[in-house]
This record gives sequence, structure tokens and C-alpha cells, in this order.
Amino acid sequence: MLRNSISLLFLLSPLVMAAAAPIVIAHRGASGYLPEHTLASAAYAHALGADYIEQDLVMSRDGELVVLHDIHLETTTDVAKKFPDRARDDGRFYAIDFDWAELKTLEVNERINVTTGERVYPDRFPLQPGPVRLCRMEDQIQLIQGLNQSTGRTVGIYPEIKKPAWHAVEGKDPGTALLALLDRYGYREANDPVFVQCFDPAELKRLRFELKTRLRLVQLIGKTEWNESTADYEAMRTPEGLAEVATYAQGIGPHLDFVVLAPNEPPTSLVADAHAIGMEVHPFTVRADSLPDAFPTLAGLMGALHAVGVDGWFTDHPDLTKPDSALTH
Ligand code: CA
Repeated sequence: MLRNSISLLFLLSPLVMAAAAPIVIAHRGASGYLPEHTLASAAYAHALGADYIEQDLVMSRDGELVVLHDIHLETTTDVAKKFPDRARDDGRFYAIDFDWAELKTLEVNERINVTTGERVYPDRFPLQPGPVRLCRMEDQIQLIQGLNQSTGRTVGIYPEIKKPAWHAVEGKDPGTALLALLDRYGYREANDPVFVQCFDPAELKRLRFELKTRLRLVQLIGKTEWNESTADYEAMRTPEGLAEVATYAQGIGPHLDFVVLAPNEPPTSLVADAHAIGMEVHPFTVRADSLPDAFPTLAGLMGALHAVGVDGWFTDHPDLTKPDSALTH
């Protein structure tokens, strides 16, 4: 009887692994509560129980990997006030035109629409004056590894290389710098707690085949009109496109719209197609205060994501979307 139970357990073990709880990825930290990509936002995400914390990366003039979503600074910092004469001819302030010593003097604020001056998420953390600053990838790694030690939990990192082709034109190589930094902090193998993500398939292929990383890579899939890269994201979402992605990546990070359509409606085939060839699916972005039009409630959205069987999700609200949160059921 005991032996039968044990063999049954072995037989079931692949199924048990496939049904592992989905991971909660804190999108730009706990950005629903604190200004995005700050150390405060990362620390709070750790405290709220996120499994991974995301960092978007751009490069400074002196080659530091700065945690920042845009290549521009004016949507989330007071750069126009502190360095009014440093905009390019298009009127925008580029992080790549500043040294880290300058960038670290900037105050970070909640995201604003620079055209209208309005806040993007009106009910979040108050605007300036703010007590939070920009940080580098290395600062975030030290913070997260430190909290991992003091709490006894292992929270992973989920860095995204922003606009690698644009950085290359500007003479910078954030991908190589990131791999070197990760190596220095012990992130080297496929089972280390890190996913490296990018919209640009050419960069992910370079990381895999030229720079020979063994880390898990995630291909982001957005809308082609966003111009995140020259890739055709519609073609990438087909079974043939996914098979090509699977040659260099372990997972995909698609926009929510490509995964679930509406409550009580069948999902798209994307998750099933990706799972059929062994890839994980981590859609973006679940925001409790900015839900997709088709989903009037967070519970409805989370129910659809659980039903389709995604392996994790990017969220501004890690606490509200945890698999055991009352709000998700
Ligand atoms: Ca991102």
C-alpha cells in the first residue's frame, strides 16, 4: 500500500509541478502604493509578499544601470526644475545625457502625463515634494538580497532591458552590463531567482547565443504600434511565432488583452499554445485602480487569470492579487 502510494506520487509529480502556484511579480515595485522603481517601492513590495520584484533599466551617461521605466526623466522626476537647460531639441530630458551623480539628486514623483500635467493614477501616493529618489539596479539587488537575509524569504528579481537598439545607437550596451552585474551578485543559472525580460527579440537572442547567458529569459509581447522594437508581435503570438521564441526564451510576458477577453468568456489560445511547448506565461499589468475595460472587478480579472492557468502576473498591487488574497476569489 505504501509502495503504491509512493509510485502514485512519482507518477503525479509532473502534474503537481505544473500546478505550482502562480508567481506575483511586483510591477516597478509596489507601484500602486509608492512612486515606481524607488527603493521604498521595492522594499514595500517585498513586505507585501511579492515573489519577484521588477526593475526597468536604462543607462546613464557614465554607464550605470538606472531603474527607470522611460528613457526620459520628466514624467517621474523634477529634472525640468533642477536641470532646465539640459533638454534635447525635442524638449525632452534623457537619462542617458546625465551622470549618476546628477540623476541621484532628482526627486521622484508619481507618474504624470507631461502633455496635460495630470496624474496618471490620481488616488496614489501624493505628488511633490517627495521623499524618494532614483536608484540603480545594484542598489535594488543589495536591498532585495538584504531583505531576503533578514526575513528568511527568497524574493527574486525581474529586470527588463529597455530599448536596447536605441541604447546601441547612443553607444551603450545595457545587456552586457546587466549580465556582468547579475553575475557579480550570484545570479548565473537557470534556477537562480531571476528572469531577464525584453520586448526586443534581437536582444534576447544576443543574450542567449552571443553572451551565452544561462539565466531564464522572457520575451515581452506588446502591441506592434507601441514601437517597442521592430518585431511583429502579432506574428509572435501565433504557434509558429511562439516556437521561434522558445528557441531562446523560457517564457513570454504578454499584454493582458492577449490572454483573457472578458469574465465568463473563453480565453485566447495563447496560454495553451505556450504551455504546449513548455513556456511560462506572465501577463502584464494587473492594476486594482485601472482595470481592463472588459473586467469591471479585480476578482473577475483574477478569476479569469486563474482559470486560464497563467504562471504569474505583473501587478502594481502585489498584496491584492496574491493567490491567497480574499479579493482574488
Ligand atoms: Ca517593465
